[in-house]
Amino acid sequence: MDDLAEQTPSVAGFRSAEPGGGIEIAGVSKVFGSGPASVTALDAVSLKIRPNEFFTLLGPSGCGKTTLLRLIAGFEQPSDGRIRLGGEDIAHLAPNHRPVNTVFQSYALFPHMSVARNIAFGLEMLKRPKAEIDRTVTEMLALVRMEHLAARRTDQISGGQQQRVALARALAPHPKVLLLDEPLSALDYKLRKEMQVELKRLQHETGITFVFVTHDQEEALTMSDRLAVMSEGRILQVGPPREIYHHPRERFVADFIGDTNFLEADVLSAEGARARVALSCGGAVEAQVPPSVRPAGRVTAAVRPEHARLTPPGDGVFDGSVEGLTFFGTDTLCRLTLDDGASFTARIQNSVPDEGTAEPGTRVGIALAPGAVQILKD
Ligand code: ATP
Repeated sequence: MDDLAEQTPSVAGFRSAEPGGGIEIAGVSKVFGSGPASVTALDAVSLKIRPNEFFTLLGPSGCGKTTLLRLIAGFEQPSDGRIRLGGEDIAHLAPNHRPVNTVFQSYALFPHMSVARNIAFGLEMLKRPKAEIDRTVTEMLALVRMEHLAARRTDQISGGQQQRVALARALAPHPKVLLLDEPLSALDYKLRKEMQVELKRLQHETGITFVFVTHDQEEALTMSDRLAVMSEGRILQVGPPREIYHHPRERFVADFIGDTNFLEADVLSAEGARARVALSCGGAVEAQVPPSVRPAGRVTAAVRPEHARLTPPGDGVFDGSVEGLTFFGTDTLCRLTLDDGASFTARIQNSVPDEGTAEPGTRVGIALAPGAVQILKD
């Protein structure tokens, strides 16, 4: 704790009373309803969220993100499995007795109350002494930079300011864990970007463990220390953003995060984390192998568009024909058809002004950056 306190700068005197809690989710399932109409929202999910980390649950609508958050908060009970916070099983604790607070998509502020009263409300419910409440409200207003609007009603402030009040209110009881369920989705693009930076700052400065839910992959990549990619009630992969982006283990993860080309290949040889494969579109390359996968026979490999480069025909790994170009300013997307009929997209950096890319109809070679080919789990 002392180490953490030293590493964690204090903002207006605010610092989490204790380090943010680590969360252990062990074999947790959640089934809604019974019989043929039942829905398995979570299917034997196991996950360790470290103390003080900014952890994101990422996945498409309906994959179980909110259900997992609601189980941690105590709004739902698991059908099976255990949830521990700071090593302690929290099954017996009602939501208001868990050292956890939640920021919802709809901020649910009291519109007729001032910003300061909204922040104080939860502490009043907890029957904290008046002097402590006043001190905490002052700290929270400074933390979210809203001192000048303390007396303003919350129906008379902007959406971004309302979001700050909701955050201040959730942080006021000094929870060990803050759960954030798509808290930025109601904001416009620019404000959303600002609040992303703000959330990162708040997490860093308070030392509280943040569990953030989003279906926006860019948001997950830019904000998280680590993230879990979810699909159909299961966790497919957990890791830091760079690892998930550069080394997706499954097709779903590669497809859901960023743009990806999928190439069919035959394994020529494999040892540990490396394999040599013959691509169906032509050429043989070194490929990376995910942990615990032993590739053999026909496999699918993923290649990010920005890891491909156009060359004269015959000078790359394989050849193709340019089908179309889309200019994006910083780069140009080049859509190609390869010799086995597969589609392929290369993202070409426009690093020299006015330098064109190969025209549609021309034949080109495609070179790949070292480490660009990633074999996926079946
Ligand atoms: P979204 O991004 O749309 O909020 P999500 O990933 O958070 O989706 P959940 O809300 O956790 O997904 O839902 C997971 C599955 O469980 C979905 O099929 C959903 O319809 C179902 N579900 C969630 N809550 C209930 C409930 N109270 N009763 C029945 N089914 C539910």
